[in-house]
Amino acid sequence: MAEYDVDLFVIGAGSGGVRAARVAAGHGARVMIAEEYRVGGTCVIRGCVPKKLLVYASRFSHEFEDAAGFGWTVSGAKFDWPTLIANKDKEIARLEAAYHANLARASVEIAESRAVVEDARTLRLLKTGARVHAETILLANGAHPVLPLIPGAEHAITSNEAFQLAELPRRIVIQGGGYIAAEFACLFHGLGADVTLVHRGDEILRGFDDDVREHVRSEMVGRGVKVILGQTIASIEKQAHALQAVLANGEHHPADQVMFAIGRAPNIKNIGLEAVGVQANAAGAVVVDEYSRSSVPSIYAIGDVTNRLALTPVAIREGHAFADTVFGGKPTRVDHVNVPTAVFSEPEVGVVGLTETAARARCRTVHIYRTEFRPLRATLSGRRTRTLMKLVVDGDTDRVVGCHIVGPDAGEMIQLLGIAVKMGATKADLDATLAVHPTAAEELVTMHAPSKVYGREAAQ
Ligand SMILES: Cc1cc2nc3c(=O)[nH]c(=O)nc-3n(C[C@H](O)[C@H](O)[C@H](O)COP(=O)(O)OP(=O)(O)OC[C@H]3O[C@@H](n4cnc5c(N)ncnc54)[C@H](O)[C@@H]3O)c2cc1C
Repeated sequence: MAEYDVDLFVIGAGSGGVRAARVAAGHGARVMIAEEYRVGGTCVIRGCVPKKLLVYASRFSHEFEDAAGFGWTVSGAKFDWPTLIANKDKEIARLEAAYHANLARASVEIAESRAVVEDARTLRLLKTGARVHAETILLANGAHPVLPLIPGAEHAITSNEAFQLAELPRRIVIQGGGYIAAEFACLFHGLGADVTLVHRGDEILRGFDDDVREHVRSEMVGRGVKVILGQTIASIEKQAHALQAVLANGEHHPADQVMFAIGRAPNIKNIGLEAVGVQANAAGAVVVDEYSRSSVPSIYAIGDVTNRLALTPVAIREGHAFADTVFGGKPTRVDHVNVPTAVFSEPEVGVVGLTETAARARCRTVHIYRTEFRPLRATLSGRRTRTLMKLVVDGDTDRVVGCHIVGPDAGEMIQLLGIAVKMGATKADLDATLAVHPTAAEELVTMHAPSKVYGREAAQ
């Protein structure tokens, strides 16, 4: 009889956990995966996928507006939130079923229960009380949205609830300055809501290039999203038919919904990790080495619970690397450098590599190529919008170390430019590439003179 019930027990059937479970099973491991909510995890059930579907829905309003300049008359366009949510739910259920089927096909046993760690090799399934002994435990249990400790916080929603509202709020106040806050502000605005975005910092999208941050905010404001910087919601008052978001400066903002998108905290509490000795860092994330091993040798962790880069493709890659390392005899580290990413705001953002500020801190010489232009489509639609593109180049090596795009299809563009940046493309390589005309992306290979030069050459 085997010493352990399973070779691998995965806590959490989200992006990272599912990939790790399937790949480990493919390497011959006996795998069980526990999921307390719905298989598919945040990305599939209440993150990337439903969000992108809502983003698509929200963009039709702009399409209808833009159509007039091209000769179209679009009259009588109406939007029905319950139809969108029902159709979205159907698609999410289909995906969830596909995840179930894929796990079953890989011979991974699914335990539909919350799992807690009892010791370094024992789990308990709370639904049945059953104990499972596992040679290796993988924490792939993600993170959760944080609510502030303010009076009336219980009346607020987070992204979790935003996907399930019974009706579209006519007025919504959102606090947050990260990509989720910006995306929800834009999508609710596109669907017709009156949106106020409140952020305590002096600019939204912290961590992004300063030009991107300023550009996105001014585009959002130009389209009608109210952005209040340097403020927080101090309390929420419930009234007969509405809520009042009361800001720290005393301003009252009536709203049908108040949403917080102020960050996500790794799920490290109440699953027995402290007792087993799994170390967490100051941000409350599980500390792991480059092979995703925690401070307890039989326990590994991947994805959002480690808070390295909280993105789906990163969790998937970490899960795959873990399974190859532990069960495939192929020790694999995940390279977290030059991860391309997008913000599905309106307009969209696509970035890879270093910001101008980060490059200046790391490179002796930095060349900035920057262009801002009115997209061709806007000439006839009359929409007042500008696309921003920016290349950050290491002046010593000519390597493109950063690329930042704000404009339609920026996410699609950055996926492809990400390959070039990852391969170490130089500015000369971009210059040698012929343009695809007429496109917006052609600007990326036709920016010839730097708009700024920092470092040695600038000083000469
Ligand atoms: C609104 C929103 C939009 C996003 N958009 C994007 C995007 O556009 N692109 C992108 O790359 N990323 C996006 N993300 C981030 C992305 O969803 C996460 O980075 C990714 O899902 C992390 O995967 P994971 O496997 O670490 O965790 P998760 O996918 O969160 O999976 C963890 C799973 O563990 C389960 N669980 C937790 N504790 C237990 C327990 N004790 N027992 C059993 N089960 C448990 C949870 O129910 C959950 O299903 C978005 C996130 C949100 C919230």
